[in-house]
Amino acid sequence: MDRPEVLLGCAAVVLSAVALVNVTKSRQNRREELLLSLLQRSDRKESPREDRGVGEAPTGMKRVSSSAGFHRVASTEALLGGFTMEQAREHALQGASAANSKTPAEVLLDLQRGNTRFWMGSAQRPEKSAFERRALIMKQYPSVAILGCSDSRVPVEIVFDQGLGDLFVIRVAGNGLDVSTSASLQFAIHHLKVKVVVVMGHEGCGAIKAAQLDEETIKKEPADLAKALLGIKSGLDEKRLKCIHDPRAHDREAVVCNVANQVKQLAKDPALMDLVNNDELTIVGAFYEISSGIVDFFNQVSVPGSPKIANRKGGGQWGK
Ligand SMILES: [Zn+2]
Repeated sequence: MDRPEVLLGCAAVVLSAVALVNVTKSRQNRREELLLSLLQRSDRKESPREDRGVGEAPTGMKRVSSSAGFHRVASTEALLGGFTMEQAREHALQGASAANSKTPAEVLLDLQRGNTRFWMGSAQRPEKSAFERRALIMKQYPSVAILGCSDSRVPVEIVFDQGLGDLFVIRVAGNGLDVSTSASLQFAIHHLKVKVVVVMGHEGCGAIKAAQLDEETIKKEPADLAKALLGIKSGLDEKRLKCIHDPRAHDREAVVCNVANQVKQLAKDPALMDLVNNDELTIVGAFYEISSGIVDFFNQVSVPGSPKIANRKGGGQWGK
């Protein structure tokens, strides 16, 4: 082999070695970048649920001082290093314990914050990692049950900027109480131990408008639909509503009247009122304004003396 060939051979070996080092470094960098991006993403999209984390870290996972930090590190390490079903189970138990430690008033304030993020355009759209989704298989621990309308413009998790496992949602046209919706709420209250029950109507609700038609017209609808509309109609104060001529004011008042009626029905349940009087539950009505994205709360049923959530339109006036 002459001298130029030897030089070329040496150069090729050196370039290969450099390339190998670069590939190794690149892999390390990618891993570091992934870790960094996961942590940054968790910072940006940290769910209200993650604030609830307390207790010991799952086996083999690093414990940090703040609960939110603990959840972030536990979740990120699980994504990078894998996790066991036992770790997922422990994660679920800690989440449930932390959720249970909140008062109804605190839970309701979290909900209000989430809606504020939504209508201000700063929603976090909290996501769950694969690890957290695995943990949720073991246990669900929502703090809020919501009876809302099926209307496609009222997606409850989006309106309150909540994520997987945060809300127990029941949606039917006109957010009315019947056997099925009552049973679902009872399950959420007595078995899932939710702290807040929200009955939420919304601006421009077609079911509430239809319920104000005369009975003969309603009875021409398919039987089950007619039955549901007549059920809503029975709770509306139509005599008073007929006095409200402004269409938008009429629409709002009719929806609020229906919600107030559902809240009133729930408050007749002695088992629920026992929970309310022990400050384990609050029941509240809500009106979602599609045009602004804002949810107003009203007709709150809670333990006497506990803080009630302010109504936006009341300028700080407490709901009653
Ligand atoms: Zn509706």
